[in-house]
Amino acid sequence: MSFTMHGVGVSTGIAIGHAHLVSHALLEVAHYLIPKEKISDETKRFEHAVKSVRHDLASLRKSLPQNAPAEMSAFIDTHLMILQDASLSEAPKQIIRTESCNAEWALKQQMETLTAQFEEIEDDYLRERKFDVVQVVERVIKALLGHPNQSTMAEQESGMILVAHDLSPADAIQFKQHQFAAFVTDVGGATSHTAILARSLNIPSIVALHRARDLIHDGELIIVDGEQGVVIVAPDKDTLAEYRLRQEQWELEQQKLKRLKQTRAVTLDGVQIDLHANIEIPEDVAQTRASGATGIGLYRTEFLFMNRREWPDEEEQFEAYRKVAETMKGNPVTIRTLDIGADKQVNPDSARTCANPALGLRAIRLCLAEPQMFHSQLRAILRASHYGKVKILIPMLCTLAELRQAKNQIERAKQSLREEDIPFDDQVPVGGMIEIPAAALGVEAFARELDFLSIGTNDLIQYTLAIDRTDDAVGYLYNPLHPAVLHLIELTIRAGAKLGRPVSVCGEMAGDAKLTRMLLGFGLRQFSMHPANVLAVKKQVLKTELSKLESLTRKILASHEADKTESLLAKLNA
Ligand code: PEP
Ligand code: MG
Repeated sequence: MSFTMHGVGVSTGIAIGHAHLVSHALLEVAHYLIPKEKISDETKRFEHAVKSVRHDLASLRKSLPQNAPAEMSAFIDTHLMILQDASLSEAPKQIIRTESCNAEWALKQQMETLTAQFEEIEDDYLRERKFDVVQVVERVIKALLGHPNQSTMAEQESGMILVAHDLSPADAIQFKQHQFAAFVTDVGGATSHTAILARSLNIPSIVALHRARDLIHDGELIIVDGEQGVVIVAPDKDTLAEYRLRQEQWELEQQKLKRLKQTRAVTLDGVQIDLHANIEIPEDVAQTRASGATGIGLYRTEFLFMNRREWPDEEEQFEAYRKVAETMKGNPVTIRTLDIGADKQVNPDSARTCANPALGLRAIRLCLAEPQMFHSQLRAILRASHYGKVKILIPMLCTLAELRQAKNQIERAKQSLREEDIPFDDQVPVGGMIEIPAAALGVEAFARELDFLSIGTNDLIQYTLAIDRTDDAVGYLYNPLHPAVLHLIELTIRAGAKLGRPVSVCGEMAGDAKLTRMLLGFGLRQFSMHPANVLAVKKQVLKTELSKLESLTRKILASHEADKTESLLAKLNA
């Protein structure tokens, strides 16, 4: 039967395809008691699940293509070994008997005992094996819950739609390597890093659907309308035909936008606007160049640090940064120093170990606390500055003391390179992100000691309005048009103009074409956004006359009524 679900669209476009449920079996485990007479059936059910997973793994191993990397089969062997170990295949049966509980629960209990034991292991490599245990347990639980035989990534056809309870940024960066038509999740906020990555997959995506993972079945046909934030499950013939038409129209519109690629972004009154791109991994440069962006306004380097056992060393970072700097052929490349923490954890398991990760040791705070790691990143960025037009951007500034310490560290890194006769650009500009209200309110003091400013509206909104950007329960409060947010943005742009420091917006607001005119009206001349948005924003720039924006933008700034702000914005865009 067809039904519709509503969530928050985070990346536009329409996709029609078959659902692929991403396992999150551990979250689904319920605890219930099994009557005495059914205990032996329950242990059999468990044995059966283990057997079927063993069978799946064995056939997966057999069907590996000739050219599959050697690690693949070693990886499957490890999982088979773990599965066969009595601590996983026998111990849960004992728990079922002694606690009279269901098999899933028993297995989860046993998994927790085992992973706690792994935590104690000194050796990094062995300790990491706990993730394999979790993955094997996931498979067995899935078999118990009746979603068996998840195909592997390699087997998936393109055109599938990922349906997940949640994806961490670390998961999303992995999915980036695969071809999916769309993805939808139960939880998540519009500017969570997962949503940002979803957008960077450049496919329609919707978050905060609440029960998609429960209600949608594997293989079911679904329509994802990223613009409206709507998912239609098992659509009827007419709906399907209508959406196929809409999909064609949307693609046609994209084709039309492509014609603007070579056009310079100049307003009707002749003012040049810089439209730059945000990237996460060096491979994103291809999309950046295809979008017509004239520089990189934000390179989120933290994604180089994710999904791995050890942090990348200076050499590896240097190679990545140099590649980006070179490929951009003299166009600016703004490399942000590590902004790990909050929802961007190095490994998903370490997430949320502190009560308020977004308010914790994140970004520049973490870098100053880890001077050795910071030093090698700064050296890598400086070395790359010899190969292109590199700028350094410091995230999450909150006090001048942090800024000065960071600049001292940059100087120290420069000095070490001088001593080794390694070339770098001594004039490399250093900018700061204005994304904490304290920094916005004291922006002039920061601007005096910086070469440029970049407004991170995602965090600025999160911290100004006190809403966790990853929590969809407070997603309704997420409002880029909140007067307090607009004031802080305008204040920062004005301070930059007064002191002659270029200001860019690199949060998600910069890529929302509905906000382009308002930001231009505030005096913004540099935007950095996901490459997929560049042409739509350029279209707005091309039909805007700056001199006509002033009175309406002033009214928007003065408005404290959401409805009024919306209607003023509509008028501005008319
Ligand atoms: C921001 O906060 O707006 C920003 C651009 O940085 P990030 O989304 O990576 O925190
Ligand atoms: Mg930020």
